[in-house]
Amino acid sequence: MGGGRAPGRDPVWERARAQLDGLPGQRGLNIAYEAVDRHVAAGHGNKVALRCIAADRTVTPVSYAELARRSNRFANGLRALGVGKGERVASLLGRCPELYVSVLGTLKNTSVFCPLFPAFGPAPVAERLRLGEVRVLVTTAELYRRKVADGRDGLPGLDHVLIVGPGTGDLPGTIAFDDLTSGASEDFTIPETDPEDMALLHFTSGTTGRPKGAVHVHEAVVAHHATAALALDLRPDDVFWCTADPGWVTGTSYGIIAPLTHGVTMVVDAGEYEARRWYGILAEQRVNVWYTAPTAIRMLMRMSPRGSPPDLPRSFDLSALRFIASVGEPLNPEAVRWGPEILGLSIHDNWWQTETGCIMIANVAGAEIRPGSMGLPLPGVTAGVLARGPNGRAEVTDGRVRVLDEPGAEGELALRPGWPSMFRGYLGAEERYRSCFADGWYLTGDVVRRDVDGYYWFVGRADDVIKSAGHLIGPFEVESTLMEHPAVAEAGVIGRPDPVVGEVVKAFVSLKPGFEAGDRLARDLTAFARRRLGPAIAPREIAFDQHLPKTRSGKVMRRLLRARELGLPEGDLSTLEETK
Ligand code: ATP
Ligand code: MG
Repeated sequence: MGGGRAPGRDPVWERARAQLDGLPGQRGLNIAYEAVDRHVAAGHGNKVALRCIAADRTVTPVSYAELARRSNRFANGLRALGVGKGERVASLLGRCPELYVSVLGTLKNTSVFCPLFPAFGPAPVAERLRLGEVRVLVTTAELYRRKVADGRDGLPGLDHVLIVGPGTGDLPGTIAFDDLTSGASEDFTIPETDPEDMALLHFTSGTTGRPKGAVHVHEAVVAHHATAALALDLRPDDVFWCTADPGWVTGTSYGIIAPLTHGVTMVVDAGEYEARRWYGILAEQRVNVWYTAPTAIRMLMRMSPRGSPPDLPRSFDLSALRFIASVGEPLNPEAVRWGPEILGLSIHDNWWQTETGCIMIANVAGAEIRPGSMGLPLPGVTAGVLARGPNGRAEVTDGRVRVLDEPGAEGELALRPGWPSMFRGYLGAEERYRSCFADGWYLTGDVVRRDVDGYYWFVGRADDVIKSAGHLIGPFEVESTLMEHPAVAEAGVIGRPDPVVGEVVKAFVSLKPGFEAGDRLARDLTAFARRRLGPAIAPREIAFDQHLPKTRSGKVMRRLLRARELGLPEGDLSTLEETK
């Protein structure tokens, strides 16, 4: 089958669609209208949409009305440049108001927005601009000089570069963002937008290989809106903070679109990650709902481990905080237990992918949390566990897959296509897109276990699952166990080929402050893991590494640990975070 084109018919999506307005006086659905203009039309233009916090902590509020006006100007600017429907506009920007203006203005103009991560090096930037056939890039003078200027000749399709902030004068071939927008009209009528019109191009995190460009359409806003209420407990009067960088899908779906459709006030922090700064923002901004990632939570845990007095978090007034959620990687049980003990609040893990466009499986407000489980499929989502073949992926025989119904079944996680934010293709890779579907299922590439009550437990990516002496071992379970040892801050686990048992489990661990790497600790960790996991699953080898390789979206890159261990080519490293 071709994929997930059919729009969702499930009542959950129908209801969410009914809560949105649609374009006035015409048919269609436009993300930017639902995110901003409809609140202004309903008389809520004065409400603060963004509270932009600069690195020095000064706060600049931007109201819904201002966001509507500024995005109209940007849409008019694009039109004046001759940029039209379906044409790509990319950003290489930190979290500044112009980023939000650009996303919304691009969508109003029915062009396609492609956010890029500003920390990418010149080669990954050029590759994505080329792959995405990007016509307009919005960036700063500094980022342009460092990452784009030298390679510009190799990007003949890049017609316009818009520079935000100071420093345009001496940059040939660029236009000042302000020059383009300040003279443009504040009025813009959004053209008819079909829900199936392409809206966003998102590159995946590149954890397993070369990033793919996932295509999303305007219809996705229905799923963003619905799932923010279902999975993040978001309510219109909330102050919401999503820490994901807008260069990734989380930072766009839940860092821009979903919260704005609910009319909330969003905290936008341009500063660096630092525990005190983050607690300070949560307290001062009276954040109600906080969406973050395991890597950030593990950093907070390093500062205030379980069993120690929670002095640091307790020195901030976190009384406004009602709901915390996490995504991007499995949330280790240790982190789930840490939340109530140290913060006084549960942390709700949820699962989704760039391709799914919205949260699919989640621990929702009020439901029992089973530490280490990603929760239950959201209403409107049909998930299944498929039997795997010798290559680790779902086995397809004569076009059919085998759905495992029994409790405890372990296999590839699959989803029934049809939810509104389902990706509609990988740009320029039709065959790869088609290979994601079999027998009416979308195959996620992740291996999971489903327990008797329907809770899903992440085992590992199909590529990461380790085979040792007849056992299938999920790296997540081993990593989570190691994290229960007081010395361990983070862990990455791989299989190293072994002539006798197939693969032996090897763990790379980083340590909490005050612990010293060495043979003694390695022996202690091995013994600790053996007691909990048994000798077949516990790591045979432990290596210490304070800088586990991670993607810029904060995921441990096990494939790189493995490649380095085995002396294999390192593969695509465009999303590798540089460690200092
Ligand atoms: P690539 O597809 O390029 O290898 P990626 O899969 O890391 O990169 P994303 O779409 O950003 O790119 O991440 C989705 C993946 O992240 C999921 O398929 C899953 O492996 C992992 N993931 C996300 N959330 C969770 C979670 N809550 N628990 C376990 N795994 C998660
Ligand atoms: Mg993926």
